[in-house]
Amino acid sequence: MAKFTFVGGIHPYDGKELSKDKPIKDILPGHELVYPLSQHIGAPAKAIVEKGERVLMGQKIAESGGFVSSPVYASVSGTVKAIEPRRVVTGDMVMSIVVENDELYEDVGFFPMAPENKLSKEDILEIIREAGIVGMGGAGFPTHVKLSPKEPENIDYVIANCAECEPYLTSDYRRMLEEPEKLIGGLKLILRLFDNAQGILAVEDNKPDCIALLKKLTKNENRISVKALKTKYPQGAERQLIYATTGRKINSNMLPADVGCVVNNVDTVVAVYRAVTEGRPLMERIITVTGDAVKEPRNFRVKIGTSYQDLAEAAGGFQTEPQKVICGGPMMGFAMFGLDVPTTKTSTALLAFTRDEVSAMEPGPCINCGRCLEVCPGRVMPSKLADYAERFDEEAFLSNNGMECCECGCCSYVCPAKRPLTQQIKSMRKIQLAKKKKK
Ligand code: SF4
Ligand code: SF4
Repeated sequence: MAKFTFVGGIHPYDGKELSKDKPIKDILPGHELVYPLSQHIGAPAKAIVEKGERVLMGQKIAESGGFVSSPVYASVSGTVKAIEPRRVVTGDMVMSIVVENDELYEDVGFFPMAPENKLSKEDILEIIREAGIVGMGGAGFPTHVKLSPKEPENIDYVIANCAECEPYLTSDYRRMLEEPEKLIGGLKLILRLFDNAQGILAVEDNKPDCIALLKKLTKNENRISVKALKTKYPQGAERQLIYATTGRKINSNMLPADVGCVVNNVDTVVAVYRAVTEGRPLMERIITVTGDAVKEPRNFRVKIGTSYQDLAEAAGGFQTEPQKVICGGPMMGFAMFGLDVPTTKTSTALLAFTRDEVSAMEPGPCINCGRCLEVCPGRVMPSKLADYAERFDEEAFLSNNGMECCECGCCSYVCPAKRPLTQQIKSMRKIQLAKKKKK
């Protein structure tokens, strides 16, 4: 029987009131857009335009570099100014196509391939692949690969991840309220790929208006149900979400498809809808700009490639110089050192805070209080794993299930000694994942 929550987790202050009641606003980008060729998991895309070439909005400018890869599209019209390494939010330099925006927004013309009901499963998958759709919740895994499991007939559930459990983020919330038909339409399209699956719209119960609206709009859909999840972080993490909605468990060596599930976030499902019904490739997304340092927090519809600087300006800039700027949510996002970096397919939020509470705290020794253990949704021992990671004891780290950590940050959040548990575990996991990939 389905359980609508999971073991562990925390209830941090959610800060969502800053931006949740303001409708999504369209913003136009500045004079330069940067499109990294690697904004997804898998092989980088390959540029198919040259410096000096004019491109149109919706034109493919880089093609897939393999099966697990994704093409990139221009989100404005203009001229290719450079193809060169540019800094991205992680601080890395990534080969990118730079387009000078001519501000004409001339597009290639968007036409659906065929009426939706005439499309085969293969057609739908091909449209998703060709549209450059990847997991837009932050992971960036190419969606056509996720939707092509070995045994599609064994998929029982297609879950739309509408939890939005990260504090401060409200882009999915606004999307659900303002464009619910696109979300439901996208879910119905994905369900066409899986004959035996039921669709689940999984929403945390701190969004009762979304739950009521989605229930009303799906009351005649016999393959779709809306599940209200207990509000708790990290309810939207893939493993926790699958367990909460279906009672099924996966570990770090398994894929959701191994337990008959496919999970996609709200923006991704909407992108599927738009690609199939409107013929539009992935060129834009909704991004939350918020935090106590931001003058006018709200959600924006952003052309991918727009700089974070343009985003901050669209929100009125900063009322005071922020001490901390984060890309993504406060729990799983990462600190930014500058705003002159581009938004990508996986950008979810720009947060700016007047106080950097984390670096203001001095870490102390562990007092063995057990709080980190209590909240850990991965059911591992955060204090021990962090010790192993610090001493670089790979064997102990792996034999104590270090890879089952989902890097949610709950342990660091509750630790009274302010130990950087997640950071230590995360760096060891990164090394182990790289080793695994190499093998
Ligand atoms: S050990 Fe990992 S899964 Fe457990 S609370 Fe810490 S970050 Fe989350
Ligand atoms: S929460 Fe912090 S102090 Fe408490 S056991 Fe875990 S690491 Fe030690």
